[in-house]
Amino acid sequence: MESGQKSILIVEDEPKLAEVLAEYMQQAGFKTHWISHGLEVIPWVKEHKPDLLTLDLMLPGRDGIDIFRELRSFSLIPVIMATARVDEIDRLLGLELGADDYVCKPYSPREMIARTKNILRRIARPLQEQASESVIQIDNERMEARLNGIRLDLTPVEFRLLHQFFSNPGRVYSRTQLLDCIYDDYRIVTDRAIDSHIKNLRRKLHEAMPDQEFIKSIYGVGYKLEFL
Ligand code: CA
Repeated sequence: MESGQKSILIVEDEPKLAEVLAEYMQQAGFKTHWISHGLEVIPWVKEHKPDLLTLDLMLPGRDGIDIFRELRSFSLIPVIMATARVDEIDRLLGLELGADDYVCKPYSPREMIARTKNILRRIARPLQEQASESVIQIDNERMEARLNGIRLDLTPVEFRLLHQFFSNPGRVYSRTQLLDCIYDDYRIVTDRAIDSHIKNLRRKLHEAMPDQEFIKSIYGVGYKLEFL
């Protein structure tokens, strides 16, 4: 066995899906363990301390959300949720639960592996280092943002949006959450207003760095920031 090999716990009650995922994960260099019953997850995690969990939500014995809540009471191990219920996603990623990422079922094993690698890479490096290497730089005191060294001419709302995305790269925000982040008062602001701020912010990012799309739309959910 390769030293430093990361271990992934696959929590999934469909054997075929778990088997395919485990196979892909192993090919990608990960060590895997499979659990199909909800009640076995917490004891196993406590004993073996895996590096990451892929967690199906509908499980026999105990559901994924319940497992996740208990998990977070003692561990910050990254969790990628898998769900077939699109209407759940907001809750999964929302402030209430704060999963690290999610995939919608049916998903491709490749997608799960890409997300797994992303998260593990992100947490492997200290935050300071990430910030100085990053193409995006945020100066909160001056409310200034730079992309690739180029100063962006942002409105206060656009700055706050970018700042919010930047504090949690990869995390998906719903429009409602973005509204909460960027306005202190309870002005009536519509979803459409958020969309138009995002559109302007995207244009400015695009002008500074045309070959990369930083803000991704997640259909039916909201937006997230992606950069390497
Ligand atoms: Ca299931």
